Amino acid sequence: MNRLDQDVLIVGASAAGLSTAEALRRRGHRGRLTLLDADANQPYDRPPLSKQLLAGQWAPSQTVLRSDEALRALDAQLLLDERASHLMTAARSVRTDSGRLLTADAIVLATGVSPRRLPGQEDVDGVHVLRSIDDALKLQQLLQPRRRLVVVGNGVLGSEIAATAATLGVDVTLVGRSLAPMDRQLSHFGASLLAAKHEAAGVRMLGGRDVEVLRSLRGRVTGVALSFGEELAADEVVVAIGSEPNTGWLTHSELDIEDGVVCNAFCRAAPGIWAVGDVARWNHPRRGIVRLENRTNASEQAIAVAADILGFGEPYAPIPYFWTDQYGTRIQVHGEIPADARLRITDGDPLSDRFVAIALTSDGESPVGVLGWGMPKQTRLRRAELDDSLAPVS
Ligand SMILES: Cc1cc2nc3c(=O)[nH]c(=O)nc-3n(C[C@H](O)[C@H](O)[C@H](O)COP(=O)(O)OP(=O)(O)OC[C@H]3O[C@@H](n4cnc5c(N)ncnc54)[C@H](O)[C@@H]3O)c2cc1C
Repeated sequence: MNRLDQDVLIVGASAAGLSTAEALRRRGHRGRLTLLDADANQPYDRPPLSKQLLAGQWAPSQTVLRSDEALRALDAQLLLDERASHLMTAARSVRTDSGRLLTADAIVLATGVSPRRLPGQEDVDGVHVLRSIDDALKLQQLLQPRRRLVVVGNGVLGSEIAATAATLGVDVTLVGRSLAPMDRQLSHFGASLLAAKHEAAGVRMLGGRDVEVLRSLRGRVTGVALSFGEELAADEVVVAIGSEPNTGWLTHSELDIEDGVVCNAFCRAAPGIWAVGDVARWNHPRRGIVRLENRTNASEQAIAVAADILGFGEPYAPIPYFWTDQYGTRIQVHGEIPADARLRITDGDPLSDRFVAIALTSDGESPVGVLGWGMPKQTRLRRAELDDSLAPVS
């Protein structure tokens, strides 16, 4: 059979799944295309959930990934509110919760991740996570001026939520293991600049701490107890302590599952089965086994997977990239910027809150990343100059 005529089934119709479908069609695929998603909503984008949607600046409809017209033009069967429950790998079939059996020549796993939770969190009202549009809308209603919000986790998502809530006048405390927010993504220096922004907005930061236990009264959260014995009162708590790949439904599939779907350099998990986006853990030719949770990877890996399904595949070897928007500043990271990285400022000035820096290994020997701070154009130029010479952090 001509590969352009294959039946393709994509499980997960969000950023990575939908981009795979589009990339297939762009490359001339004319076979049957089915997209399946457990979410009942028309596919939407997640980055605005912690930014514009949480801030109340956007309506939910503004987060949709594609218009009705663009979805129709894809000429795909889009099955929403339909959860995959089993993969029969050798038969290339997927069974869903509703009993539907879908079989294809090629199956793409694009099921993303779910938020990690604190023990006992499910039984306490007022403790939230932020992954879906429903999560964001619920939390948005509760972010009222002077309400006490504790954000648990001071990585990218926790820091963003704290920034958005502080801008709304919420009384925010940001607690986490890192000494400063996003320490492990921005270096100590970058994290100290971000901490200064949080401080100016009135966010209380408690770094180097774990939450020991949630405090509650009659099933509703009242606060959190921290590892050093501190007690924080809270009206609402958001837990942003990382995520777990959505692979539970693949338990009996005989695929290699280990913190994601393990794939080769072409993102193939088994003959006829690929993984893409947040759920995929693949053998990056220069960085070893990696799994990236960022929006750009979802689109770019989708292009690589689509090409491989059609027989034009190449090993997928991107330079990781993510951005975050906090207090009106776009912060961009190409490559990796570990806590102990040394920064060499190439453009602008940190004192003016606009700069670009090359991140070097702690010995100052090799470039490992580019940090952009409110200067998207210059950041792109510096990234292009370094091109693929950015070394992985060992
Ligand atoms: C609040 C928030 C803000 C973010 N901000 C940024 C940012 O500023 N910059 C950045 O680079 N990245 C950001 N990200 C990360 C980025 O959104 C993700 O990397 C991207 O969404 C990954 O896309 P994906 O399609 O792989 O996974 P997802 O978007 O998680 O989609 C997976 C889909 O699979 C479906 N699914 C799961 N299990 C099943 C099943 N068994 N059967 C059927 N369907 C299933 C889900 O319903 C979901 O629609 C953010 C993420 C969040 C949550």
